[in-house]
Amino acid sequence: MEQIAPHVYRVHINDTHAFHPGGTNIYFVGDPSGEMVLIDTGEQDREWTRQILDAYGELGRPRMAAILITHGHLDHIGGLDRIQDVMQTSVLCHPKLVKRLVPFLGEEAVTGLRSRQRIRAGGQVALEARFTPGHAEEHVCFFLRKQKIAFTGDTILGSSTSTVQDLSTYMRSLALIQQFGPSIICPAHGKVVANAQGWVDGYVDHRNMRERQVVDALRRGISDVDEMVKAIYPKNLKRALRGAAAGNVRQHLTKLQKEGLVTEQPTRYVLKA
Ligand SMILES: [Zn+2]
Repeated sequence: MEQIAPHVYRVHINDTHAFHPGGTNIYFVGDPSGEMVLIDTGEQDREWTRQILDAYGELGRPRMAAILITHGHLDHIGGLDRIQDVMQTSVLCHPKLVKRLVPFLGEEAVTGLRSRQRIRAGGQVALEARFTPGHAEEHVCFFLRKQKIAFTGDTILGSSTSTVQDLSTYMRSLALIQQFGPSIICPAHGKVVANAQGWVDGYVDHRNMRERQVVDALRRGISDVDEMVKAIYPKNLKRALRGAAAGNVRQHLTKLQKEGLVTEQPTRYVLKA
């Protein structure tokens, strides 16, 4: 475990997942001699859960005000039942995630957050919950206002770009984080980012650049997703990443469609087998 800033402790778990360059981070926030909160519980893996509970022991088993969940992907809610058992505190998450967590935690243990809800994490330390859909519709970021620290879950990662489920809402979530103007980003995967504003701007710029490339391809008469991938991405793009690239292009097209800038014309017909 490593202390990132006053009141912020990181448990870093080395994992080898292809989409998690730089491993996974679990955070304890608050005052170890008073009250703390935990952000996310990692993968459903005995070894991961043990590392989190070991860190809890190292901190002196503080009273836990809550366990906060950034979103419902399995690498963020694993071990939650065992960890909640030990910490004996309530789990707070996006209202859309509550139903999924109740079956294995029980009704009383899970509460839906309100957007902008303040969560006391001991003494003067308080986090603000902000709904940040895009990577997942039930994604929540947590802001430490005074210290300008953003716990960004998978909305912004520390060592790579993230995957996106809905690009329109995702861009709004990035703008919200930009507005907050963080000085440190504590992501769920990858390194902790000290040049936070530059990193967030880079995230926004990257997506805007892709969008320009997609619009440019459309302008040149390229109308097929695979052709667009060929036109936009490097020629030597690994085959395994082509699927993700195509998914990205589709996200941009859907976003442009929602904005009324693009229409889809299904004009191809094939015989059913
Ligand atoms: Zn994740």
